[in-house]
Amino acid sequence: MWVELDGWTAKLRFSACHLIPHHPKCGRLHGHTYAVSVKIHGKRTREQEFVIDFELLKETVAELCARLDHHVVIAANDPRLRITEDGDNTAIAIGEKVYSIPTCDIAFLPTDSTSAESLSLYFASELASLIGSGASGDISKIEVRIDEGLGQGAGCALVIRAGNEWVEADT
Ligand SMILES: [Zn+2]
Repeated sequence: MWVELDGWTAKLRFSACHLIPHHPKCGRLHGHTYAVSVKIHGKRTREQEFVIDFELLKETVAELCARLDHHVVIAANDPRLRITEDGDNTAIAIGEKVYSIPTCDIAFLPTDSTSAESLSLYFASELASLIGSGASGDISKIEVRIDEGLGQGAGCALVIRAGNEWVEADT
């Protein structure tokens, strides 16, 4: 069984700006309205009639969206970026280009890119740690799709392995 939320119609969206270093078009700072769709696979337990409660899932995804909403999203582990603090600002150098951005306006992600693919993996990993064990039924797979506007998205799936370790599924 599964439980599914559509990011557009369930209003699980955020607006943010990012860039893809050295890309001819996306290498310039630009923004998107993103929608986060999720599909949670699992079994209902004897004690609980849901795979996961819709309200809990919605709240959790909404909180993750709020972390990024109206921020400049920067991949902290991107080897193409040179990131240095400069007082209240952060300097992001990419080759010859340097962006100086108020640090409070930045959402740093523990990723090596801010592509839709990387954002989907970030959301799936965060969901796995927040709802992947204990609080819900027997969750076995977490799928996330990130849309960069209507009609264009990327996604990933995490599956649970023995020892409660979540790994990316071959999709
Ligand atoms: Zn973009």
